[in-house]
Amino acid sequence: MALVVDNADVITMDAVTGSEPVTRSIRIEDGVITEIGATVTVNDGDTVLDGRDRLVTPGLVNAHTHSWEALYKGRYDNLPLELWMLYSYPILGVDPLPEDVVRLRSLLFAIESLESGVTTIVDDVLETPGQSASQLAAVFDAYEQTGIRANVSGHVINRPFIDTLPFVTQWLPDDIVRDVRGQATVTAEEYLDYSRTAFAAHDRSAGGRLRYMLAPSAPQRCTPDLLAGATALAVEYDAECHVHVLETRTQAVTAQVDYGRTFVEYLRDIDALSPNTTFAHGIWLTDSDIDIVAEHGVCVSHNPLSNLKLGSGLAPWRTYHDKGVTLGLGTDGCSSSDTPRLLEVAKSAALVHKITDPDPETWPKVGEVLAAATTGGARSARLGETVGSLEVGKRADFLVYDLTTLAFTPRSRLDHQWVYSENGGSLEYVYVDGRCVVDHGRITTVDRDGILRELREAMPRIAEWQNKLDELNGVLHEPFARMYRESLTHPVPVNRWAG
Ligand SMILES: [Zn+2]
Repeated sequence: MALVVDNADVITMDAVTGSEPVTRSIRIEDGVITEIGATVTVNDGDTVLDGRDRLVTPGLVNAHTHSWEALYKGRYDNLPLELWMLYSYPILGVDPLPEDVVRLRSLLFAIESLESGVTTIVDDVLETPGQSASQLAAVFDAYEQTGIRANVSGHVINRPFIDTLPFVTQWLPDDIVRDVRGQATVTAEEYLDYSRTAFAAHDRSAGGRLRYMLAPSAPQRCTPDLLAGATALAVEYDAECHVHVLETRTQAVTAQVDYGRTFVEYLRDIDALSPNTTFAHGIWLTDSDIDIVAEHGVCVSHNPLSNLKLGSGLAPWRTYHDKGVTLGLGTDGCSSSDTPRLLEVAKSAALVHKITDPDPETWPKVGEVLAAATTGGARSARLGETVGSLEVGKRADFLVYDLTTLAFTPRSRLDHQWVYSENGGSLEYVYVDGRCVVDHGRITTVDRDGILRELREAMPRIAEWQNKLDELNGVLHEPFARMYRESLTHPVPVNRWAG
């Protein structure tokens, strides 16, 4: 039995029609698009969805997020990354989160993603103080249940956090320096072994929908053997290797002060770049860094909402395009954006670069933004052949919008309205692998009300834990603020406050 979408307005995002809406019918069998055209085969017993007054698009791909932060939504504002991390990823006094909380957190994040049209998430799961195999399994389990497509890491930091920032140790009490430096870290070989086990247990599970991903945190947060080893292992498994690179000006200073070159040059020099590599953020890169990124086939996840909220700067959108670098779009975590709704990121990306250059020729086009939100994100996730566009042979991950809503009235340019007007209220159905996982805005695969109730009941205990950690880690606030101010006085090779 097949599913047929009959005669809808369709944005395919394929190489021919791109983001231009066209009238199409689509046939789906066993989770795969088998026909798409003016007419398709319809057999007795097929389920037919009437396409009249409906827009069908590929599912959105969130190319960078951290589900850990789902429990931190709305807690912080007006903190730059280096201070924000003190609270969102505390380093003092953290006990591992129990698996049932990890599971609930992942369910919440998947539900809100799917209900806003995000069918694929690149979830860089950062547990503090470090991830256990059972915590990782709880995330995979939640995503298997919800029906979302996901790359799940494996995030690792294996250098003492205070040594990943410039200048700060001089202002910290000796006992804290000693304590933080004394915290257990993994070796490169231990992380690679952990990852081989994770590949065996989880990679391509749930019918291929779920993948394991390598995620060395950042060049300054990992040892060179771990960065190079993770890059090589990702190539071996054709998996994504996800790395935070030059998100902030402070990181650009760190590269100059501690490494004597840019972080892109450093990663190239230690053999930690490949076509499997995706940089999260990629803001404070020089133009010649971007040449290196392009030469090595590295992709970049652009996260403008998070970058605005943390005051990080703006990735050079037009330069990346001019040099042929594949861009995806990411929400980043719910403590820095504070939403998994990728359409908000698409709208921000379409708008914010318009004030960085007076020449309108350089401004993002809606088609480019939609490509980043679909095909670009899919390519960055090593899923370019699997999802991102509506084409024969691809998995049937797609969205069905009601065109009779206020957001789509009057109907002018559907691609423009998808980015600029739609607020989530028009989304009728979400399909992943040809299976309907959201029906009229509500997830169908899990007990939404029960999960939210369980979470509400658990939240007082969780908030108490968060408040305690805020207080404990708050002693580091002033030394970190001094480090932030001090780093502003050091020159960096490029200014990305304005893209
Ligand atoms: Zn991130």
